Amino acid sequence: MFFDWALGWFSLDMGIDLGTCNTLVCVRGQGIVLNEPSVVAVRKGTNIVLQNGNAVGLTAKEMLGKTPGSITAIRPLKDGVISDFEITEAMLAYFIRKVHGRRRFIKPRVVIAIPSGITAVEKQAVFHSAMQAQARHVYLVLEPMAAAIGANLPINEAVGSMVVDIGGGTTEVAIISLGDIAVSESIRIAGDNFDEAVTNHMKKTYNLMIGVLSAEKIKIEIGSASPVGPETTMEVRGRDMISGLPRKCIVTSEEIREALQEPTGKIIDAVTHTLEHAEPELAADLVETGITLAGGGSLLRGIDKVIQQATGLPVRLADDPLTCVARGTGLVLENIENLKDALESDLDEM
Ligand code: ADP
Ligand code: MG
Repeated sequence: MFFDWALGWFSLDMGIDLGTCNTLVCVRGQGIVLNEPSVVAVRKGTNIVLQNGNAVGLTAKEMLGKTPGSITAIRPLKDGVISDFEITEAMLAYFIRKVHGRRRFIKPRVVIAIPSGITAVEKQAVFHSAMQAQARHVYLVLEPMAAAIGANLPINEAVGSMVVDIGGGTTEVAIISLGDIAVSESIRIAGDNFDEAVTNHMKKTYNLMIGVLSAEKIKIEIGSASPVGPETTMEVRGRDMISGLPRKCIVTSEEIREALQEPTGKIIDAVTHTLEHAEPELAADLVETGITLAGGGSLLRGIDKVIQQATGLPVRLADDPLTCVARGTGLVLENIENLKDALESDLDEM
């Protein structure tokens, strides 16, 4: 919250990281005030969001894979594209209202980080839903740019910086220089695909069906992209595909690493591919400045090491990779007066 001298009123401007897995809201002067899964519970087969107060966010995520017949919990941005506009709108409106509440402030200015692969129609949908949710102005910033700002990279200098943001649904790779994205690539391979690889492995090797939350848990607890530290094991529970009955088994960190090789390989390909398309001068800078990783997927053990081995460049993890983009939108808000002309806020430009 801050006092807007021009308007003579308190304003609760907010930066939003609209992620495929998690939505974070950062308020100017307060930091991150909301961090919830991008999940919405709806009536099955419809766009009707449940009206019982726990239809969005944390409470909705707990329903994933456990909903009774008439209800289904969905992630409207799962693949990095908006699969359902109305549900995305409802979700964004819910989060904005939750932060803004019934406070008697003027309508907020909102900065939203969006995936770089988003289409013009999807941009408009995000823009309109924020306006619908009582925003005074909406500014859109590309996610890799917000990640670079959040990681304190020198984006405005004439030196190349590279970010790789591994989220749930998409991985965004970008080389930034002089305040602009020079080369970028957005692929639909990220944390969700790691979970999927774990699920497939359990099916193929053990005839065991496991849920999405269990797959994610295995990845986080024992998953890795390259050997780091001592190997471990974990007990996994699921349903036997042949008998149909609940059963448990023990898996090792080695076999999970093996299972994760395919999706991590695709991320490495996107990184090397982007490097191949960089101007030689920018590529030369990267030998010094290296690659910065952000997003929850970058927390997979050893992923920095495999990227470093594949590119020969120094690789570092941004501080608190899960909040990097949100903190970036917060920094954009702080400089909004200088930046607003550079941001996309006018639909004609989109
Ligand atoms: P998005 O920006 O797409 O919402 P996030 O940056 O929030 O995505 O990252 C979410 C992804 O990060 C999920 O796939 C989640 O499983 C993964 N993740 C979170 N913590 C870890 C961890 N410690 N190890 C591996 N993956 C993780
Ligand atoms: Mg993200």
